[in-house]
Amino acid sequence: MCGIIGISNHKEAAQIAFLGLYALQHRGEEAAGISSYDGRDVHIIKNLGLVSDVFDDRSIQELKGHAAIGHCRYSTTGSSNLKNIQPFIATHKNRVMAIAHNGNLTNTETLYRQLEGKGSIFQTSMDSEIIVHLLARMRNGDMKEWFVEALSRLQGAFSLVFLVEDTIVGARDPQGFRPLCLGQLGESYILSSESCALDLIRAQFIREIEPGEIVFIKGKNIESVFLPHRDKAKRAHCIFEYVYFARPDSDIFQDNVYQVRKRLGAQLAKEHPVDADFVMAIPDSGNYAALGLAGALGLPLEAGIIRNHYVGRTFIQPTQFLRDFHVRVKLNPIRSVLQGKRIIVVEDSIVRGTTARNRVEDLRKAGAKEIHLRISCPPIQWPCFYGIDFPSKQELIASQKSVKEIGDFLKVDSLEYLSLAGMLSVVKNSKDFCHACFSGKYPVAIPKNTSKYLLEGVRQHIRGTSARG
Ligand code: 5GP
Ligand code: MG
Repeated sequence: MCGIIGISNHKEAAQIAFLGLYALQHRGEEAAGISSYDGRDVHIIKNLGLVSDVFDDRSIQELKGHAAIGHCRYSTTGSSNLKNIQPFIATHKNRVMAIAHNGNLTNTETLYRQLEGKGSIFQTSMDSEIIVHLLARMRNGDMKEWFVEALSRLQGAFSLVFLVEDTIVGARDPQGFRPLCLGQLGESYILSSESCALDLIRAQFIREIEPGEIVFIKGKNIESVFLPHRDKAKRAHCIFEYVYFARPDSDIFQDNVYQVRKRLGAQLAKEHPVDADFVMAIPDSGNYAALGLAGALGLPLEAGIIRNHYVGRTFIQPTQFLRDFHVRVKLNPIRSVLQGKRIIVVEDSIVRGTTARNRVEDLRKAGAKEIHLRISCPPIQWPCFYGIDFPSKQELIASQKSVKEIGDFLKVDSLEYLSLAGMLSVVKNSKDFCHACFSGKYPVAIPKNTSKYLLEGVRQHIRGTSARG
């Protein structure tokens, strides 16, 4: 998963992109980058690490110009590779273009083989690079025509921002899998994965970029075109953005994430009530569903586990002692709250089961008498091919075990998940969502070989990289 931002017509474009990426940090903690255009040259700074590690005042000053785009990239299971950090830059016919992509294409392999057959040489193992190659092959017409033609060939999930000299281009796939919104700051326009970035820079939210829309922003002018197949495409917003991914203070898919999470919790309470002394969340991701669930059951909400926000991800954990230390320093249970209590613990989701199992063990050690675990989404049984880095079916605990077996594995007194129907009942326009990770109903054909690492495997052989966007 990734966060993307673009800004036009601002004398401190890179600074604004930097602040925007700060607000989007939760969408990608592995690497960050910004590219800007100053009327003559394209500048780029990108590296592994958090936004605050990659940039400082001096580097931001080097990113000159009135237009900039930025990207932050999610930590993945594969090895990291500097080449795969975005924005990705390519030069074609003396025109430099930078791209930042959120989502995963599903026809990557087909396009890759076609382009390679026509002589394209790839520098990275990112599906995003394919988009630049498609754009580079467009010869006729104006910029809008090439974008429509190139992006029409893509299948799968893409929210994109491009920097083409001083034009910022934003695009969203016809299903609208990933969010992308438009804001305004004085005479500048801003494109952002989530509206929380607009709030931080005091820009005004205008609207979401529509599924299948391509917007061209140059100076103060803004113009849209639409992908021809968008009318036939069924919308498929990622419902997991609401469950876990997006920030609660963002409005995406025409609803506020915090409010949706609270409603998921309230619905969970309705489906699986149980008596207890209090409700608590596994912080931070379970916080808002816990609030909704506690309210619906009329039970107090307590903070039974405290999270230390200063623990870096890059903590070196060479021994079991240090690994245990790392977990304790990050999340510490409060014995006086938990001792002898019957508690309902709310978690947003279970992927492999590691987090829930460890937290339950901590709560027991701290004296909890009964633990009723409630999950604010259905069991995740299917891998995602549209940008969430869920592991293979073998690693998804709910695809291997029944709810009862998972409960036994987690050593809880009861385990209940929200139903799919219940989840869909609390979102607006529920037919417009992708819930493939819960239902196995993939709205866009998935790659034939269902290993999502297929292409990476091929490329790994060549380049020794396996990063995903
Ligand atoms: P598990 O430990 O079961 O493998 O993962 C579940 C935990 O990871 C939950 O606490 C949830 O908040 C969090 N989570 C859910 N989806 C993702 C994801 O895509 N990436 C990361 N890093 N965490 C996730
Ligand atoms: Mg969590």
